[in-house]
Amino acid sequence: KLESLNASVSRILVFVRLRPMGKKERENGSRCCVKVLNKRDVYLTEFTNENDYLRLKRLRVRHFTFDSSFPETTTQQEVYSTTTGDLVEAVLEGRNGSVFCYGATGAGKTYTMLGTMENPGVMVLAIKDLFAKVRQRSLDGNHVVHLSYLEVYNETVRDLLSPGRPLILREDKQGIVAAGLTQYRAYSTDEVMALLQRGNQNRTTEPTRCNETSSRSHAILQVIVEYKTRDASMNIISRVGKLSLIDLAGSERALATDQRTLRSLEGANINRSLLALSSCINALVEGKKHIPYRNSKLTQLLKDSLGGSCNTVMIANISPSSQSFGETQNTLHWADRAKEI
Ligand code: ADP
Ligand code: MG
Repeated sequence: KLESLNASVSRILVFVRLRPMGKKERENGSRCCVKVLNKRDVYLTEFTNENDYLRLKRLRVRHFTFDSSFPETTTQQEVYSTTTGDLVEAVLEGRNGSVFCYGATGAGKTYTMLGTMENPGVMVLAIKDLFAKVRQRSLDGNHVVHLSYLEVYNETVRDLLSPGRPLILREDKQGIVAAGLTQYRAYSTDEVMALLQRGNQNRTTEPTRCNETSSRSHAILQVIVEYKTRDASMNIISRVGKLSLIDLAGSERALATDQRTLRSLEGANINRSLLALSSCINALVEGKKHIPYRNSKLTQLLKDSLGGSCNTVMIANISPSSQSFGETQNTLHWADRAKEI
């Protein structure tokens, strides 16, 4: 699979994950409008007369297919292995890659990326796997793993491991870096989950609903693996690989701002980051010379992890509830388009 990804034009792997119906949704009479079959096919059903049970009727069923589609029973480990396992391998070889979770608020992005203590998500499983692989290879060299966890909110970059003033992005020889960002030297998986949970609590909350993470915040975990060894003539050889794991802001904001031009600066900026991301991805795949990374903080930060020989994975998260039909439809359409790239 990696071989085909390393061709000069990168392809994006696109996955869809359906979450289980929530308790509240079941209680308020939501119907399930999504089915995943054969680990590939997604069927989306549109119902009429949402509030009139006697006349509830299926209007039509749409069919989509992806590199893999995960039904609601899929484990975190399965999602990790299918979507991200190969990228961890590539990062150990000194390459860069990125994994995005995309979808409406409540669709399961944070569960997929971070997860819970009992069911850790892709971020934690990737680091666990990375440490296991480093241990296997530790005889032939020296690997160092560094973690950074940051947020882009309202076009402002913040350090989630060490909250404080906004960070300034600078361009230096290594590319674009957030000045003063904590580079946490990680030694084991055990410490990482707690670290990331704490980091996640530092994400910006909606002013009106404290404790609830803002749906406008993008969280980025960057895992940097440095490998140093000596060749036969004792020269130091070093290589660096970087894996970026991104819990994107809720995509419904981007759609809302499209229709209503007079929205708050906040909304416009989320839109800007998501739009900038999709235009970069489009430009990359069309083989354009100029990639508009400068258009948002998010794309500046991901400049060295998108395109070129980088591997890019997109996980579209969706809810089964008929109440989220519109958002689910939008997410699936978007994922379907990204697949063709
Ligand atoms: P988002 O980050 O996209 O806004 P969350 O990840 O917070 O959505 O998910 C919304 C709710 O659904 C949370 O309570 C979460 O625990 C639950 N949830 C999401 N995906 C799953 C899943 N695959 N299995 C069980 N619960 C899930
Ligand atoms: Mg979330």
